[in-house]
Amino acid sequence: KLDAKILRYMTSDEFRVLTAVEMGSKNHELVPLSLIAQIAALRHGNSHKIIGELAKKNLVSKIKNAKYEGYRLTYGGYDYLALKTFVKRGSVYSVGNQIGVGKESDVYIVADESENQLVLKIHRLGRVSFRAIKSKRDYLQKRKSASWIYMSRLAATKEYAFMKVLYDNGFPVPQPIDQVRHCVVMELIDAYPLRQITEVKDPGKLYSDLMNLIVRLAQYGLIHGDFNEFNILVKDNGDPILIDFPQMVSISHPNAEWYFNRDIECIRTYFRKRYNYESMLYPKFQLDVNR
Ligand code: ATP
Ligand code: MN
Ligand code: MN
Ligand code: MN
Repeated sequence: KLDAKILRYMTSDEFRVLTAVEMGSKNHELVPLSLIAQIAALRHGNSHKIIGELAKKNLVSKIKNAKYEGYRLTYGGYDYLALKTFVKRGSVYSVGNQIGVGKESDVYIVADESENQLVLKIHRLGRVSFRAIKSKRDYLQKRKSASWIYMSRLAATKEYAFMKVLYDNGFPVPQPIDQVRHCVVMELIDAYPLRQITEVKDPGKLYSDLMNLIVRLAQYGLIHGDFNEFNILVKDNGDPILIDFPQMVSISHPNAEWYFNRDIECIRTYFRKRYNYESMLYPKFQLDVNR
């Protein structure tokens, strides 16, 4: 869980040491204390004491076995660094309630300096797999999770880039606001996921809006890749807003047609089961997507 309170309880030396661990991580899976002390430019004894405090707060973890000894960032430490940057840039001022727990992320309502409500999506890849590998040895486990942090950053970077290009080109997606490390800040959409909406006024209209959206995306060169009832928010006026982009693929991907058909099928199946709505009309990759 994200602990917003820790933002207040960190000294500048602690911040230096935490930043040093992150910098050391760029070329060390486990960052040796000597390197941390060197980057932080504190006396070895001080770094030693401070790293112990960071470990107690769960912002770094120490890995020690016969072969290796060193430190790495935890998700907690990475969250802290990302939030600190957002706060410095003014894009986040305070953290509110958690609104979503996806498989791959935690989603919070946050506010900026002008008290505008926004959404903070923290990517957390490897959460499930992390449990699955519990039987493995300690070192392997923690080593794994270091690369999950890297993968989560990649997911956030991709998500922000896709969101930006879509938003700038008039697609119905949240406005991207900022991105740092494994986090994305975006517009808060005042709507619920399709999954939670028990009554849709005009299923036929929504169905064709969604099919048109899939085709428009593909004509623009992109396939969402996870186009389902959880990733479509429906506004009061019935308009859909699309979210959740890290997995998007290009229509020049070798399996593009398969991804495209899967998105289409996902909506057809949902409308059939949930609204008893079935249409003969649905887009075909070869016909509807100009390549
Ligand atoms: P999944 O498990 O489907 O991959 P995820 O972890 O990638 O999900 P998202 O789908 O991006 O996360 O977000 C999770 C939930 O948070 C959404 O289903 C939605 O309820 C809420 N949410 C996300 N972004 C927004 C937003 N911009 N405005 C309002 N609600 C949002
Ligand atoms: Mn999903
Ligand atoms: Mn989702
Ligand atoms: Mn997702």
